[in-house]
Amino acid sequence: MTENSSADVIVIGLGPGGETVAARLLEAGLDVVGIDRELVGGECPYWGCIPSKMMVRAAGALQEGRRVPLLAGAAEVRPDFAPVARRIRAEATDDWDDAVAVARFEKAGGRFLRGSAAIEAPGRIRVGDETVQARRGVVVATGSSPVRPRIPGLAEAGYWTNREAIAATSAPDSLVVLGGGAIGLELAQAFARFGAAVAVVEGADRILPNEEPEASELAERVLAAEGISVHAGRRATAVRRDADRHVTLEDGTQVSGAELLVSVGRRPSTRGLGLEHYGIEGPAVPVDPAMRAAEGLWAIGDVTGLGGFTHLSVHHAGIAAADILGEPTPDQHAVVPRVTFTDPEIGSVGFTEAAARAAGLRVLVGTADAAMTSRGFTHGPGNAGLIKLVVDADRDLLVGATSAGPSGGEVLGLLALVVHAHVPVAALRSMIFAYPTFHRGVLDALAALS
Ligand SMILES: Cc1cc2nc3c(=O)[nH]c(=O)nc-3n(C[C@H](O)[C@H](O)[C@H](O)COP(=O)(O)OP(=O)(O)OC[C@H]3O[C@@H](n4cnc5c(N)ncnc54)[C@H](O)[C@@H]3O)c2cc1C
Repeated sequence: MTENSSADVIVIGLGPGGETVAARLLEAGLDVVGIDRELVGGECPYWGCIPSKMMVRAAGALQEGRRVPLLAGAAEVRPDFAPVARRIRAEATDDWDDAVAVARFEKAGGRFLRGSAAIEAPGRIRVGDETVQARRGVVVATGSSPVRPRIPGLAEAGYWTNREAIAATSAPDSLVVLGGGAIGLELAQAFARFGAAVAVVEGADRILPNEEPEASELAERVLAAEGISVHAGRRATAVRRDADRHVTLEDGTQVSGAELLVSVGRRPSTRGLGLEHYGIEGPAVPVDPAMRAAEGLWAIGDVTGLGGFTHLSVHHAGIAAADILGEPTPDQHAVVPRVTFTDPEIGSVGFTEAAARAAGLRVLVGTADAAMTSRGFTHGPGNAGLIKLVVDADRDLLVGATSAGPSGGEVLGLLALVVHAHVPVAALRSMIFAYPTFHRGVLDALAALS
């Protein structure tokens, strides 16, 4: 028998975006029902950002150990994946158990329903045997899932997505990674540092195709130096399995691995959700600047197709919550920083040079080699990196920047602020940069602007 209930707001999907919007609404005294078909917390803590960064950290420790002979004497490095797997299980994911997150949501006053939500009519959501009616509105925060490309033989061969890679209890002997974006490269480098023979296949003409070409070249150079083979500009056309997986590329090259990781992008998760009741086709849910997708419907995070970052989902959550509460909304178009947590970290914000030119801007560009800065010079092994600045010459404003290096993601914070707050380039030039920091590379890049 169907049970009927109601709430002020129904939040579908309790990942970083859904949890944040629900918390804000509960704090404001609204009655909130939150629904998730898997784990409260979403992709980020269980299969994404957090466990992957634990892997990256551990792999980085191994690499630093390998640099000891060049810097500080002798060290023997014998990789063991067990501590990583243990940390992921015990510290990041609670053995993929969300009891703590559910308790936090309920303690804040929310009512949690576990199950797949389906929209029956605008404002009416069904979960299992229960139908909930929203008095004020519905927030869709259903995130994204891995794209599964149609390559002959792939489904039969079986493969990893990020989920199996994160849940691995040992590093494979060999690994083929389909997709040279952030997720693919972070995992490729981490497993390689644990001893896997890794090959990366990227259909675009370079890895990290959305980043500056200089960043792609840097990543390829560093990965190659660590023994990872990169096959860019060639698509996979077939997969075959015996004891290993064998991937044939369009030029006839064959790459093989004991495991195959598919990380060719993510797709908004809206299948079966019933968005057609709001006149929305999907898979992405288009939104206006207040994150409204339709009357009484808001969408936030990965499902909007505006970018796949936890910080963006959380930012969207703040906008939607403010709009639902009738408060002024933060700027949806605030610049979105992005970081690929390879070593070197590759961070970027705003326009690439090519995008700025395509937008019709009169562009000045300055690039500096992080290894040639005083900090890079003293750092020695592992100092590869660069700073690239893209300036709108007519407005004397930084409109884009790339910061790659040992702390590339942290240095990006400075550049993201400059782009975000429209700090004039003249003001940036007049600032005193502590010596010798990696961020002093910004001064060198400013000096190189032309
Ligand atoms: C390996 C990896 C590494 C990453 N690293 C980073 C990083 O370093 N930094 C960063 O910013 N981002 C990173 N990301 C991306 C980040 O994880 C996502 O951008 C973020 O989780 C999106 O949050 P969300 O709230 O939009 O959706 P999600 O986290 O995807 O949560 C959506 C929730 O909705 C639920 N759901 C879906 N459909 C339904 C339904 N019909 N009914 C009920 N529930 C439903 C799901 O079960 C899920 O819990 C990484 C991702 C991966 C895969």
